[in-house]
Amino acid sequence: MAELLKGKPVVDAMKAELTKQVEALKGKGTTPKLGIIRVGKRPDDLFYEGGAKKTCAALGMDSEVFEYPEDINQAAFEDAVMKVGNMKEVNGILMFSPLPKHLDEKKIRTLIPVEKDVDCLTTGGAAKIFTDDPTGFPPCTPTACMEMIRHYDIPLKGKKCVVVGRSLVVGKPLAMLLLREHATVTICHSRTENLPDVCKGADILIAAVGRAKMVKGNYVNAGQIVIDVGINPDPDNPGKYCGDVDFAEAEPIVQKISPVPAGVGSVTTWVLCKQTIMACEMQNS
Ligand code: NAP
Repeated sequence: MAELLKGKPVVDAMKAELTKQVEALKGKGTTPKLGIIRVGKRPDDLFYEGGAKKTCAALGMDSEVFEYPEDINQAAFEDAVMKVGNMKEVNGILMFSPLPKHLDEKKIRTLIPVEKDVDCLTTGGAAKIFTDDPTGFPPCTPTACMEMIRHYDIPLKGKKCVVVGRSLVVGKPLAMLLLREHATVTICHSRTENLPDVCKGADILIAAVGRAKMVKGNYVNAGQIVIDVGINPDPDNPGKYCGDVDFAEAEPIVQKISPVPAGVGSVTTWVLCKQTIMACEMQNS
């Protein structure tokens, strides 16, 4: 049986550390604050927002939701985003995307100050990640993977890491973070040839594909560590979620595996808060 890489122990350790950091900042007269910008009321956004607010409260941080109607026009939304960006007490900004189609999201992202871009929505934020600038904040999901890897003492130096998925929110930045730790990284995508064999050759396999249970038993090997980033409706259990890895097939084979739910996904909002605290520290130093 594989060791389960659960999110809860990672979160417990982060909570202890971050609570101390928030107390220290409060002692100096500053309370870290996350600003959440949301247009409309998409259920996924509301769910994530609820988790983020709860995590902020658990850490003694402030949070505020800036909610706008679905039909807000470009000029009014630009003004609104700039206003939030200029609020001195807001240290980190999360803006839900995609925005409604009539809004120019590319332009709006440029209005978020890079020093408050705690989920890497701006080109400037992404540049910091790709140039190993320590003042940059990577997107929260790949950072959550790295928190898991660190917490469970998974060695990366010289190891073969295969990342399946090359999106700007998960696959690409994750590959950069793994490279920073001296892993040998392969990025796979929908055109990769012999995908099962490439995955099977990894010491550490990270699936960020967005396809329920795509990574089957023939993609993994004994001794492998598997991190499953996927969050998909479970085709076999209506109303439930599953990962990109077919857990029932992979778990009996591999050495360690993160479950879905209760794996990477449960760490993400804590990373969002951690990066907001870091932003607050930098803005007040
Ligand atoms: P995305 O933007 O849709 O990207 C998916 C990537 O997977 C693309 O690079 C795509 O390749 C690749 N891909 C698709 N089908 C493939 C196939 N058959 N074989 C190999 N590669 C394939 O998705 P995302 O936003 O990165 O999210 C990935 C997963 O992570 C989703 O399940 C999402 O729900 C989950 N997620 C989880 C969290 C969390 O907190 N845990 C947060 C965000 C996302 P191409 O580039 O060639 O199209």
